[in-house]
Amino acid sequence: MALSHWRPLIALTIVLALIGGAIAWQGKSTSSSPAKVAKVTKSDAEWQRMLTKEQYRILREKGTERAFTGKYWDHHERGVYVCAGCDLALFDSATKFDSKTGWPSFYAPTRKEHVESVRDTSHGMIRTEVVCARCGGHLGHVFGDGPKPTGLRYCINSASLVFLKK
Ligand code: FE
Repeated sequence: MALSHWRPLIALTIVLALIGGAIAWQGKSTSSSPAKVAKVTKSDAEWQRMLTKEQYRILREKGTERAFTGKYWDHHERGVYVCAGCDLALFDSATKFDSKTGWPSFYAPTRKEHVESVRDTSHGMIRTEVVCARCGGHLGHVFGDGPKPTGLRYCINSASLVFLKK
């Protein structure tokens, strides 16, 4: 059979191979682990010096501010909330929603590698604590009753955050 008969088939094979390769490459690039956030470590004395009493109590001693008392539960400006301990960008105002809980609530962090989850069994409950990935500061907890698109509710202490206007 003349080669010309096979040309469409050869072309199709090449195209399929290219598509397959592109899919494999994309899969590889999205599944590769995200860049780790470099840690910030300070002594308790250093944290005490640089944080307010309330920030220290919450960030370093895993405290919780009283509902409806923090700076940001009813804050609606556009910008980014960074860690009060180390300035890492944690939550964008675009993901903030009114949870009616009295704490600033977000459905996602700015980047998933910027926060870490820790199992928390204190106070007779099983919860998931959220800490800053850079300084380890306590931020709050994450619950599974949030809105779309993630279904998550990051319930965060205002004292753990500093808002930067866009
Ligand atoms: Fe931090």
